[in-house]
Amino acid sequence: MKKTIKLNPPNSIEHQLMKTCELTNQVRQDTMQDLENIGEDFKHLFLVIQSVQRNYQALLDQNQQLQNLLLNLVKDCYCWQGNRCQNCQKILQALAKNPTNLDSESTEKYQDIVTQLRKRN
Ligand SMILES: [Zn+2]
Repeated sequence: MKKTIKLNPPNSIEHQLMKTCELTNQVRQDTMQDLENIGEDFKHLFLVIQSVQRNYQALLDQNQQLQNLLLNLVKDCYCWQGNRCQNCQKILQALAKNPTNLDSESTEKYQDIVTQLRKRN
């Protein structure tokens, strides 16, 4: 009986195919790992955004409460509109200079941006 020798030459089609499959598999596994990492990053970013959102909301609430308190002090004072006492004048000036109040130009720009963003969704 003739003895056959199994040859697997490195240039055979089968060998090339195996290599290609192995490489493809590796690339796909890497991609899955990358996607998982990106997912983790998004989860982390989401938590950061939530935290910033909570802090900002708390700041807005506090700002609103303080503004209301000051406006009520002026409203309940013995003086009247057009003839305010010194304290009320100081309060009104401070409120007018409040850096968190937006001027009309900034408000319009902000609304434009928000409108553009909402159109995309
Ligand atoms: Zn007053």
